[in-house]
Amino acid sequence: MEKKSVIEQVFAVDVFNDAVMRERLPKPVYKKLKHTIENDEDLDLEIAGAVAHAMKEWALEKGATHYTHWFQPMTGVTAEKHDSFIAPTDNGGVIMEFSGKELVKGEPDASSFPSGGIRATFEARGYTAWDCTSPAFLKEDAAGVTLCIPTAFCSYTGEALDKKTPLLRSMEAISKQAVRILKLFGHDEVASVSCSVGPEQEYFIVDHEKYLKREDLIFTGRTLFGAMPPKGQEMEDHYFGAIKERIASYMKDLNIELWKLGILAKTQHNEVAPAQHELAPIYATANIATDHNQLVMETMKKVAKRHGLECLLHEKPFAGVNGSGKHDNWSIVTNTGKNLLDPGVTPHDNIQFLLFLSAVIKAVDDNAALLRLSASNPGNDHRLGANEAPPAIISIFLGDQLEDVVSQLIETGEAKTSKQGGNLSTGVHTLPEFKKDATDRNRTSPFAFTGNKFEFRMVGSSMSIAGPNMVLNTIVSNVLSDFADELEKAEDFDLAVHDLIKKTLTEHQRVIFNGNGYSDEWVAEAERRGLPNMRTMVDAIPELTKEENVKMFEKFNVLSRVELESRAEINYEIYSKTINIEAKTMIEMASKKYIPAVIKYTTSLADSINAVKSACPEADMSVQAGLLKECSSLLAQAKAALENLKKVTKEAAGKAEGQEMAVFFKDVVFTAMNELRTPVDQLEMLVDKEFWPVPSYGDLLFEV
Ligand code: ADP
Ligand code: MG
Repeated sequence: MEKKSVIEQVFAVDVFNDAVMRERLPKPVYKKLKHTIENDEDLDLEIAGAVAHAMKEWALEKGATHYTHWFQPMTGVTAEKHDSFIAPTDNGGVIMEFSGKELVKGEPDASSFPSGGIRATFEARGYTAWDCTSPAFLKEDAAGVTLCIPTAFCSYTGEALDKKTPLLRSMEAISKQAVRILKLFGHDEVASVSCSVGPEQEYFIVDHEKYLKREDLIFTGRTLFGAMPPKGQEMEDHYFGAIKERIASYMKDLNIELWKLGILAKTQHNEVAPAQHELAPIYATANIATDHNQLVMETMKKVAKRHGLECLLHEKPFAGVNGSGKHDNWSIVTNTGKNLLDPGVTPHDNIQFLLFLSAVIKAVDDNAALLRLSASNPGNDHRLGANEAPPAIISIFLGDQLEDVVSQLIETGEAKTSKQGGNLSTGVHTLPEFKKDATDRNRTSPFAFTGNKFEFRMVGSSMSIAGPNMVLNTIVSNVLSDFADELEKAEDFDLAVHDLIKKTLTEHQRVIFNGNGYSDEWVAEAERRGLPNMRTMVDAIPELTKEENVKMFEKFNVLSRVELESRAEINYEIYSKTINIEAKTMIEMASKKYIPAVIKYTTSLADSINAVKSACPEADMSVQAGLLKECSSLLAQAKAALENLKKVTKEAAGKAEGQEMAVFFKDVVFTAMNELRTPVDQLEMLVDKEFWPVPSYGDLLFEV
């Protein structure tokens, strides 16, 4: 018999996937379920009992004792409440039970999750509902084996309290609108479309022992203090560098855990910054990709601990060193397997592709601020708009080939040619000569066309990708719907499509930019073009409740006004709470660690000055005295900044919750934090390392 590879042996062993269902479910039940999954049709509750039974038997065979409805509240991380399978029997024993009702519906207390005012705390009821489109899986940890059932989470009154529900709604929306367009092109065979998403996940790995010595990493996920080490990332020797043994062994373990969960972990490499790495899975349907990405983040953290390491998912763990993002690769695919964003070899004569391309360009231009918001969290503010990759201004990179087609269309109303890549020749005869891509890459673009998909690069590394994809699906649905309205009425379809493409590209060419997105010239140019530049999350939050956006989300049943308003509140709350925790952590570290350490050091300096003076009155004391003076002066600055930070943090608590408080945290508290950081970081460069109370950037970044 053929021997199976290691990966084949472990792949998806912990997943109740299609193969398992086909094998274990009665045929009619399997057929019905599959039909629901593939065609977005109503779930027949009659089959739930049979599915629950098969799931339970399968899970028990694999050692499970508990099951949980696994969901994604607005905290951005996943939540679970475990129930064991036991039910008492008459004779004092137990049997293992799991009913269809338990599979379909759960009832966690909703009051402890962010609801943004949808629920008062006394109204505690919330429901989780089985999402049969994402397969159940087993989680193994110290608690044993648990059957996890992906679910949506909503309130007693039916509002979404999670990230999954609106994502699923947006997937239905885009499917409906894209199918309308495809019908016009004669594709009656297409019943639905879905979005494919491949998220590339960046992360940092540091030593666990060192991590434990830094309250800032523990409480906030990022360093709030820290001077730059003599070596940063300037040598560019880390990117794609050989992977260190300790990291390699971590990655190996991580891959196995992910494969067991049916996650197609594919690519891994070192990233730009020291101690930074990336993992990319093979893309999947948006919903499953989102669930998988949550599992990837969770597993990264769990496996790191096993290796005496700590995984940092924060967008900016270290100031002055590249931060982490998540490139969200997105495309639209029909149920017949055709990628609607695939241009083919000659995009200029692929009218259907050009129409979908125009739709995405228009959607992104019309909704740049909303997209910016979808990639916002407090951590990502340190990247977007802070002179780092990518910029906060949304623009689209199309590449030479498509940009040329677009210019032809705008200028002459007709595109006649598509530039081709030609051959790549290295000048060495023994190296293979191969055909180049028609287009080079651009690393600085926040929204880049990369061959047959768009890559949305603004998303933060710690974020759920549900939000960004939900927004993308909705804004593109909105344009497709308008396009369909217009084209369905057209007398001459060919002419109408042609005109629509030309008009759309002409109106939205301002959002296309192939140059360097990091440059200052671009910021000025973008302003001239009228593109929004929102530097912070707090600036972007009002987008959620803008009248035209409410209308759009309601039109496609993705989010209601109440849900949008609550999400805006939650965003403000998350921002304020995050900065508040950071400020309090700084206060604690400065008061209990840095200031006492500097006092000890200056005392030892003073002692040594006195000792040297009495031993040798004529000795030159200028070095010690100078150092003592410099440290004391910075110490006084740090103390004053600390007192100010304490004062403004207290003041913040008195502000009205919501926008007012968040703005105060951003403008006043955040500024005060930086004012405290500056003298402390300067002191780190002066004070004897023996006295310094926490591991330095150098220790964290280079000693893994
Ligand atoms: P790069 O670093 O060059 O951007 P990677 O290989 O690291 O490329 O990641 C590309 C990601 O895009 C992978 O997750 C891949 O599966 C995904 N991807 C590839 N094709 C598509 C597609 N048609 N739709 C969505 N995602 C895709
Ligand atoms: Mg990429």
